[in-house]
Parts: sequence; structure tokens; C-alpha cells
Amino acid sequence: MRLSNKIVIATQNRSKFDEFKALFNAYPEIELARADQLIRNADLLRFGETFDTYLANALAKARLAGNACHHPVIADDSGLEVEGIGWKPGVRSFRYAEARPGVPQDQANNERLLKELGPNKSRQARFTCTLVLLMEGILLHATGVLEGTIAEAPRGENGFGYDPLFIPRGSTKTFAEMSDGEKNSISHRGKALHELMSQVKTHGIVFVKP
Ligand code: IMP
Repeated sequence: MRLSNKIVIATQNRSKFDEFKALFNAYPEIELARADQLIRNADLLRFGETFDTYLANALAKARLAGNACHHPVIADDSGLEVEGIGWKPGVRSFRYAEARPGVPQDQANNERLLKELGPNKSRQARFTCTLVLLMEGILLHATGVLEGTIAEAPRGENGFGYDPLFIPRGSTKTFAEMSDGEKNSISHRGKALHELMSQVKTHGIVFVKP
């Protein structure tokens, strides 16, 4: 099956889109577009995270973007799960902390996580990412998981979200202390994307310029 090589990434998160751009260097036949570059009506892009699974949320985002533009769409839903707090925040990772005026959401989330964990709870953690590829009635999905631990305090300036607190297993650095290339080579998002693209190949799908 031949499909347009222009794939829309259904996210409004710039950092995530930049990660996808770098990850797609391994697939040079594909051209990426951000959903909000193609879809003018912002109402069509209100990606709520209302469901209880990464897959349901990713599918909802993909449908929303797919209904509004005529290209294959990739949507992602991801989160951090920490053992000491019952493997939360999970699908609620983005809105874990209450919004505080003047405080970036990522910072508020990291502060809440450290507070809830305290000194004695298990700091074992994992990032999970589910990706959905939706196009012309075809739906493929893949999940990537990366194990690690939560640092005692935020470290590093790169990345986004919980990157300053997440130390991947086998590393001494947090994600935020790694270069983009280092993070992408092991990340949950990278794992999910490579699995998704291997399914694309298995199904005989090729991407061509329209
Ligand atoms: P969503 O998939 O856009 O809903 O992302 C959920 C939230 O999970 C993000 O806003 C981050 O707080 C967190 N998250 C997901 N992936 C990452 C990552 O690679 N690094 C840091 N935080 C992440």
C-alpha cells in the first residue's frame, strides 16, 4: 500500500515535536508536519486526555487531527509511572500538579512528585509511550517503555516534563543532563516509534511523495 509521505504529528507540544523530528532522521523518506501548522481552527486541536489508557488517549488525538486534515497522522500519549506513589501519575502526567499562576506546569509537576515521594518511598519508575498511526482506515499502534529511577532533586536543563528527575536504568545522568541524541537513542518514544515503523514495513506500507 502506498501512502502520502507527509505525516502529521498530532501534538501541540513543541519539545515533543522536536524529538519526533530527530527520531525521524532514521526515516528520511518521511516529511513531518505539526498538526497546528496544517489545521487553522484551534478548536479542532483541543487534545484532551480524558481516557484511562495511553492507547485510548492517543487514538482520540489521532482521530481529531485525522478528521481535520487529509494526511496520515501519528499521535502519542505518554507518561511517567512511579512505584512509591502507586505507579502514578501515569496517563495524568501532564496535569499531575494543580496549575499555579506564574509557575510552569512542568516545574509544578516535578515539585509535586518530589513532595509526594518524600525520602522513604520507592523511586523505581518507568516512562511509557503509546503511538498510534492512523491513515485511510488503517490503524497501527506500538508502545515503548523505559525503566529508571527518580532523582533526589532536579538536574539538567535539556528536554521537558519530568526529564530533570528521570534517571534511565544503567545511567548516572538524568534525561535533562543528556544530549538530544543520547535521550532519543534509549527513550520510550524512540522505542515505540521503531516498533511502529517495523509494523509499517511488515504490512508492506510505503510512503511516497503525493
Ligand atoms: P502527553 O503524552 O502529551 O499527555 O504527555 C504527558 C506528560 O508526560 C508530559 O507533559 C510530560 O510531563 C510527561 N512526559 C511524557 N514523555 C516525557 C518525556 O520524554 N520526558 C519528560 N516527561 C515526559
